[in-house]
Amino acid sequence: MATERLYEDLDGALQVEQAGKERKNTFRFAMKLVSQFLGFLALLILIGLLVMNRMEALLDSEMETLVARQAATTAQMVRERFLGELSHMSRAARLLTDGATSAEALAAAIPGAEPGVQAGILDVSGRTVAGIPLPDTVRKQMALSSAGASIIRHYEGLGLVMSVPVIYGENVRQILYKVYDESALREDSGRFEGDVGEHILICDQETGRLIVPYEGFGPGDRFYDEAQAAPRGIDEILERLSSEHAAAIYSKDIDEDYAVFGAEIAYGMILVGYAEWDPIVSNVSHIHRLVLWVFWLILLLFGVFTLYSFTAELKASESDELREAKKEADRANQAKSEFLANMSHEIRTPLNAVLGMNEMILRESAENSPIRGYAWNVKSASETLLSLINDILDFSKIESGKMEIVEAPYSLSSVLNDIFNMVRFKAEKKGLDFHIEVDETVPDALYGDEVRVRQVIVNILNNAVKYTETGSVTFRVTWKQMPDGSALMQFGSIDTGIGIREEDMGKLFSQFERLDIKRNRNVEGTGLGLSITLKLVRIMNGELKVKSEYGKGSDFTIVLPQKLEHYEAVGDFRARAEAFVHQQKSYHESFVAPEAKVLVVDDNEMNLFVVENLLKNTEIQVTRSMSGQDCLEKIAEQRYDVIFLDHMMPGMDGIETLERAKAMKDSKCQDVPIIALTANAISGVREMFLKKGFTDYLSKPVDSKALERMLQQYLPPEKVLPATAGSGKTPEPEPIPDVGPEPAAGSEAAEPPEIMHIDMETGMQYSGGSEEMYRKFLEMFCQRKEAVQKQLAEEFEAGNWEDYTTHVHALKSTSLSMGGNLLSAEAKALEMAGHAYLDGPEEEREAQLAYIRENHARAMELYDAFVEEAERRKLI
Ligand code: ADP
Repeated sequence: MATERLYEDLDGALQVEQAGKERKNTFRFAMKLVSQFLGFLALLILIGLLVMNRMEALLDSEMETLVARQAATTAQMVRERFLGELSHMSRAARLLTDGATSAEALAAAIPGAEPGVQAGILDVSGRTVAGIPLPDTVRKQMALSSAGASIIRHYEGLGLVMSVPVIYGENVRQILYKVYDESALREDSGRFEGDVGEHILICDQETGRLIVPYEGFGPGDRFYDEAQAAPRGIDEILERLSSEHAAAIYSKDIDEDYAVFGAEIAYGMILVGYAEWDPIVSNVSHIHRLVLWVFWLILLLFGVFTLYSFTAELKASESDELREAKKEADRANQAKSEFLANMSHEIRTPLNAVLGMNEMILRESAENSPIRGYAWNVKSASETLLSLINDILDFSKIESGKMEIVEAPYSLSSVLNDIFNMVRFKAEKKGLDFHIEVDETVPDALYGDEVRVRQVIVNILNNAVKYTETGSVTFRVTWKQMPDGSALMQFGSIDTGIGIREEDMGKLFSQFERLDIKRNRNVEGTGLGLSITLKLVRIMNGELKVKSEYGKGSDFTIVLPQKLEHYEAVGDFRARAEAFVHQQKSYHESFVAPEAKVLVVDDNEMNLFVVENLLKNTEIQVTRSMSGQDCLEKIAEQRYDVIFLDHMMPGMDGIETLERAKAMKDSKCQDVPIIALTANAISGVREMFLKKGFTDYLSKPVDSKALERMLQQYLPPEKVLPATAGSGKTPEPEPIPDVGPEPAAGSEAAEPPEIMHIDMETGMQYSGGSEEMYRKFLEMFCQRKEAVQKQLAEEFEAGNWEDYTTHVHALKSTSLSMGGNLLSAEAKALEMAGHAYLDGPEEEREAQLAYIRENHARAMELYDAFVEEAERRKLI
């Protein structure tokens, strides 16, 4: 227990450590992915911001271009106005040429009242001819520059002067001019405003000097640069206009909210203005915003996609880990299966010796001695262990995919017989009714894996017996013919047992899982049986169906497709079964073969000893051989009737020995049956041995009955004699006491195993193998209980020890022939005490009497218990 705990703790600790490591690895991996993702996201945002910035710069420059274009349009308008004015003045000049007076010409130059606008005429030498006089410097400049071209020029302090030549024939004789003073210009500037902005100025293209201000322009105005006493941004615009015709600049250094623009007009003048930026941008910023939205959306989608691919990667890495873990688990499982298979094989060998030696003890120990009882318990425990090992072997075979179904023709009725005998005995031992219902039309000659078919049916029936306390177990066999001619067999086990809870149904077929542990704690089992059954049934393409009602009983049905060898109905199975039982019983140990020679080859001396002793009663001449080589030498020397050849031997193994034996020229045993003897009792092995050339196969631990049956089958019939004829002695049926172990003192949790008072097998042996006869005798024996007890009680009271001894002697043998082994043993002890009292030495008489006085009541109790059990088991 302590070791178990230790293993559990260790296991737990290892698991916790492993889980911790896995958690740490996953955490580290997740952290790595998260940091990668965050880094990536930051990069994306940076790119986004750069793009946004670039977009804004692009937008600004696009807008600047747009504004510049509009500025150019406005400048064009201004130019056209100036040109219009000049052409108007040219028309007035032509009047002069045509002979009009100066006054008429001046009136034509200024048709309406234009405040701040005046006109005048100069001659080419610079003298004022008419109209307003001009300052000298201006006049001189005008005279010099009037080479026949119209001119517009600004003079500081004077204003804007427009002049056109007055031509007479080919010569310029006079200059007509018009002067717009500051106020007129300011008035006029309003005309250019509109499309581009509210604040339009006209400046000199060379110097940037202001020519036409707008209303209110000057110190204190937003666009007036006090330091330079010039319009804001004029330098930047001038610079741009040195290479372009129109330009616009939006710069926070110039103004936060306004862009400055400029465009060439003509005559060295440029137009400069300011446009509010936001309204301009807002015209297109929705597109800009849309683009940005789309961009952010793409970014977001990209982010989501990246996040998704990161998590996918995380999952993939997790499933990589899982896959790795699964591989590891599969490897461990494989190792476990191999370990189980090896261990099972290793355990079978010593168990073989235990069973064999125990069989010797059973045979050679005195009748009714306690040793026999112990040996019987050893036998039963070893058989349980053996079946457990077989289960584990099957299980590991299935697990490692090595389970093979070996099909061959077989007789269903013989399989049913085996099952019937195996299960009936167990059911009756538990006081359960065992019914067998076989549809009479069920086919007998089938083709399939007989061993596995028997195994799965026995499994469900054994469970039915195990998990049923009272009532009955019914074995039902039906069938259906399939369209392809095969048979769909149905084997049902119906019990009135404890049933299975609805919620436990799912766990029914799990390996090593047992249900309702509290209730079943006294039922032996590993939880492997059904799992193996289901797997075997599936391998055979069948189905296993379960119906159960908790507290009422269960119904397991195996549906198995089997090929039909030919059709021959089983018929009345019960009748056949009974005949078979008879036949078996009469065979059992009822032969001797003193003339027969058997060679047993096994490298293990104990195995040789076991086989030799198991055959002692048959008087067969057994020769031992301990190696393949020795076997070959022996068969060269002498002929044997049967050879038992072990499979696994050092050096030359059984198969090689067989091959060599067959190939030997000087063998005296060419056609002798050679039977494989091996601890490797798993499916397919028999067929393997048959294929290799063995005549048959016998599994170790050797079952004495199987061994004898095999010898009966393979020995030359003339050497097999009925037991009486051969030995001259009547083989006595051997009573086998079935005594449960004493309950361990102080163990309250475990219920004491039930002591069986009736050993039917023994009783039947004494009744010529007929159950009917046995039941008749039994009934009589039970009916006589009262009378026998009364008579013995009277003799006991009266101290009539002579009659008492005679009557307990009778009780000893009658109870033994009924299978009342315990009662018989007790009666025998009383009889011996009686004889000793009557005839024994004087000094022992008191003690013998005391023994009778002490044990008489117990013998009577055993008689009561015997009858009670007979009633309970419905034997009478
Ligand atoms: P075990 O060796 O425990 O009998 P099995 O695999 O044969 O293992 O059965 C698994 C469990 O199913 C049993 O422990 C038992 O609880 C339940 N079981 C199987 N057959 C029956 C039945 N006929 N009636 C009730 N319970 C059953």
